[in-house]
Amino acid sequence: MNKPDDIGSIETVSLWVNGRKEAATSRRAGEVTNPATGAVTRRVPFCNRADIDTAVAAAHAAYPKWRDTPPLRRARILMRYRELLEANREALARLVTDEHGKTLSDAAGSVQRGIEVVEFAMGIPHLVKGEHSEEVGTGVDCHSLRQPLGVCAGITPFNFPVMVPLWMYPVAIACGNTFVLKPSEKVPSASMRMAELFKEAGLPDGVFNVVHGDKEAVDAILDHPDVKAVSFVGSTPIAKYIYETCARNGKRVQALGGAKNHAVVLPDADLEFAADALIGAAYGSAGERCMAISAVVAVGDVGDALVAKIRDKAARLKIGPGSDKDVDMGPLVTRAHRDRVAGYVEKGVAEGAKLVLDGRAFEAAGREEGFFLGASLFDHVTPDMTIYQDEIFGPVLGVLRAKTLDESIRLVNANPYANGTAVFTRSGGAARKFEREIDVGMVGINVPIPVPIAFFSFGGWRGSLFGDQHVHGMEGVRFYTRGKVVTTRWPTTDTEAPSFNMPTLG
Ligand code: NAD
Repeated sequence: MNKPDDIGSIETVSLWVNGRKEAATSRRAGEVTNPATGAVTRRVPFCNRADIDTAVAAAHAAYPKWRDTPPLRRARILMRYRELLEANREALARLVTDEHGKTLSDAAGSVQRGIEVVEFAMGIPHLVKGEHSEEVGTGVDCHSLRQPLGVCAGITPFNFPVMVPLWMYPVAIACGNTFVLKPSEKVPSASMRMAELFKEAGLPDGVFNVVHGDKEAVDAILDHPDVKAVSFVGSTPIAKYIYETCARNGKRVQALGGAKNHAVVLPDADLEFAADALIGAAYGSAGERCMAISAVVAVGDVGDALVAKIRDKAARLKIGPGSDKDVDMGPLVTRAHRDRVAGYVEKGVAEGAKLVLDGRAFEAAGREEGFFLGASLFDHVTPDMTIYQDEIFGPVLGVLRAKTLDESIRLVNANPYANGTAVFTRSGGAARKFEREIDVGMVGINVPIPVPIAFFSFGGWRGSLFGDQHVHGMEGVRFYTRGKVVTTRWPTTDTEAPSFNMPTLG
């Protein structure tokens, strides 16, 4: 851990405005830590309104020229960007591990999923094609087009420093918008590197900008009249705040929130396969994934055997610094978050759930300053318990029991969150019923983390998403464009008499 007087020598992360690094005018700043060591590694400025105004002004000035750049030319810049991201995959993954703590292989996987959104956005000339109908009336044709909105903004969470920003800005920029990104102040560095690479790929200055900060910066974005659309990913209370504020300010908004993802395990499931899938989904990235499985619903008599298998596997997880080889689970993002998650384990015991595996007992020998916590497993969790109701966002898995598939579906559908869910079964009929009746945005059939591939769209229901469009895929293209319909006539005769009736073109 650094001593306070070391902090003066620590690098301050810059902003990225108009194609170059800039210092913030704000004097407020935060600290970025390496979760594996607890050391403060960087300072991050907390932008004020003036800083946000400067970044939005750069994006606003760059907009007309970028909007008028043919989609094919925009796509070619994205193609070069894709190559550069690919070439820098390991370096970006390392930045993710350094600031978030997750393992390098997990970080590399998340970078790959982000690059796939760029690959999707490269198809923009096709994706923004409109429709045309000839002769909708005598001598009248009709066509539709989709046009960009202007300056769009993205506000992103700590848990995917590369992937979640990439869900947003490649699609927005491909559509002809310009963009201001405010990544999480806990993990600011990867966004800066991605901005540099985009410039190297040929992106004109001002099209993509990065600012840093907390509520003050976010509020300045939400209030800015030149910001036309806001994409947000983070916790549910903030998502709701973003949605309400943007709606009040007349902005288009998609605000993705938190999650409590259930896996339903039916008695006919392959238990070994399910248990392997579940420990990966519950404890991978130390449970800090919005698609992590945090609740298992064991149906019928499958509970005892399933809990025993998960327990045995979870107890053998290798926990250590994300940069070490063969580690399954790294530390949590901050000391405060680690302590909060450990507090939930205590709460679960007090509420009467059966603690089968206690992650608090884990000792990171020689790494006491890191934010480590072992895997915890609760059995006999009930819906009235806080550990079931709250999103813990850590390596804590709770097992509930249900008598039937119907009961498990009712339980999942009653939860206020509805991001992802999975069912484990060998029965096509049961899986089909689950798929049709479950009220959740993303569903896995024997797939524990059903994160949709880039050319489909990602998003939850209920408290997991406020807004109408999911991110990336065609919903992303629709979010970042607006439709226009043009009705055309080229009169060949002399002027017609004026009509005061509703036009019927036939
Ligand atoms: P968070 O809500 O604390 O922060 C998200 C962003 O909002 C950050 O950029 C942060 O600076 C900003 N912010 C924080 N407090 C604010 C406030 N009071 N006013 C305005 N802006 C504010 O979330 P987090 O802790 O960074 O990330 C974890 C959360 O994100 C979890 O709830 C997780 O489920 C969720 N998440 C959801 C998805 C999804 O796709 N639904 C994906 C990833 C993460």
